[in-house]
Amino acid sequence: MTRLLLFAFLLMAIFARAQNAPLPVLCGNDAFDYILRHKYPDLHQAFQASFEENLKRAPAVANRSPLTIRVVVHVVWKNPEENLADSIILSQIAVLNEDYNRENADTANLRPVFQPVAGNPQIKFELAEIVRVKTTGTFKLNLSTGDLMSNLKSGNQGGSDPWDPSAYLNLWVCKIQPLSLGGIPLGQILGFAFPPNNLSHWPADSGAPTANQDGVALDFRVVGRNNPNTVEIPGGTGNLVVRGRTATHEIGHYLGLRHIWGDGGLLGLPNDCDQSDGIDDTPFANAQSAFDCDTSRNTCSQVEPFYGMDVPDLVENYMDYASESCMNMFTRGQVNMLQSVLAGPRSGLVQGSSGIAQAAPEAQPKLYPNPTRESVRLYIPADWPAITAIDIAGADGRIQTLPLPRATGGGQIDLDTRNWPAGWYAVRVQTANGVWTERLLVMR
Ligand SMILES: [Zn+2]
Repeated sequence: MTRLLLFAFLLMAIFARAQNAPLPVLCGNDAFDYILRHKYPDLHQAFQASFEENLKRAPAVANRSPLTIRVVVHVVWKNPEENLADSIILSQIAVLNEDYNRENADTANLRPVFQPVAGNPQIKFELAEIVRVKTTGTFKLNLSTGDLMSNLKSGNQGGSDPWDPSAYLNLWVCKIQPLSLGGIPLGQILGFAFPPNNLSHWPADSGAPTANQDGVALDFRVVGRNNPNTVEIPGGTGNLVVRGRTATHEIGHYLGLRHIWGDGGLLGLPNDCDQSDGIDDTPFANAQSAFDCDTSRNTCSQVEPFYGMDVPDLVENYMDYASESCMNMFTRGQVNMLQSVLAGPRSGLVQGSSGIAQAAPEAQPKLYPNPTRESVRLYIPADWPAITAIDIAGADGRIQTLPLPRATGGGQIDLDTRNWPAGWYAVRVQTANGVWTERLLVMR
């Protein structure tokens, strides 16, 4: 049962529904606020109250600098069309940077009632590497055996080994086979992600079964916004709109967010207005959107505790199943969750979480290549404070100390790694201001 529950949270099945026309651009928040103040003072007061509540929670978010997550994209391909061009991968990274910094042009389409709760995660994504693996394997979530496409994440089984999952977001791209049970087709999976472990609003076993499965898997047809491949909507009503937002959605799961309707209705879970995603400013909904842009949806006619009134379904949210052409926002409550996950269970992903990084976020040491086989070069930025020690700790606990490049900052050190046993190493650079640590994977 728990395994089935896990699937219930990960599935992203496609339902037949034609795309509606894009939303019109709506009037501005000032006009809305003016009307509220003069015509609906009670409603205006409710908004003020929710603003205040959010502000209480928000200062830490508002004052910080953007956080940067490094992404490794593994393209595991069999047929040439699955071997996506670099330009498509880069457009995907660009979409993530827009959506996670509220720089997407379609924020203007957000309905006024939800404008006060829109949040800006301020999370940046930096492409660390594109790893390409030609495969003969097939990749499928298996409802009978519970296999979560583990072969996709193993070089020995036709997939691609992850880079250190505690330091990098691993994003695997492949052809995902349609979901089926007992030979009955259930739909196409567009992608899935493991949430961080030990979050109270997820089932206890929803994290990756082993660290090397942690990350996000995407079907090759939904990556980027200039993807020439298409996904048909079942029923022959056309193709899905693809703007790179399956990745936005799946990375939302990876960073702790659940579907805004609370995941009811899938695989035997009750579908009603009591299912919560654990976030207070996402309105209750008793079902997911159907890959459309239906702004008339209001599946739970009830006073929302957070809003103090009934509000429609939040189809603009990245964590619903609306068409990618009308998704455009995370809420402030969701942003707080993303932030708290990056300060907690996924803090290893954040580049430069030491005091040094906050002082000089652009100038960080670099290890390249990583992973490596023969050698690795450690670059030290020129404007770094005096380095007091550089050492490398192996998984066996053995520590080797390296000669310092020079007394005050800057320089590079080449290391011959040919005789190092395969595995993870922690490279630590110490200065008077703190310690910078990077993980290095040595492969044989
Ligand atoms: Zn999802």
